[in-house]
Amino acid sequence: MINKNNSNSSIGFGSQQASAKLNMAIEDLEGVQCENCKCEIFAEGVMIRTVSALLTGTGKEGIVPIPAMYCIKCQTVVDRLLPEELRSKKIKI
Ligand SMILES: [Zn+2]
Repeated sequence: MINKNNSNSSIGFGSQQASAKLNMAIEDLEGVQCENCKCEIFAEGVMIRTVSALLTGTGKEGIVPIPAMYCIKCQTVVDRLLPEELRSKKIKI
């Protein structure tokens, strides 16, 4: 993964990354599977939300990148890794 943006840890999966650093045996960790095809390999995409110029206070429209993991086989987005507000909308890439 290139382009790691740790400054956005409040959105995205900052919390999951933090918990992965705990001292645990890899076999004790819960695997994430695609809900659709059970594939365990994912790629990272980015969803983009725009923020109205009225809210940014800079006079320009703002852009908020939201990282989203999706299944490499069927491209279903992993719902549970999305911010809560964006879940359960069956997003297809
Ligand atoms: Zn899948």
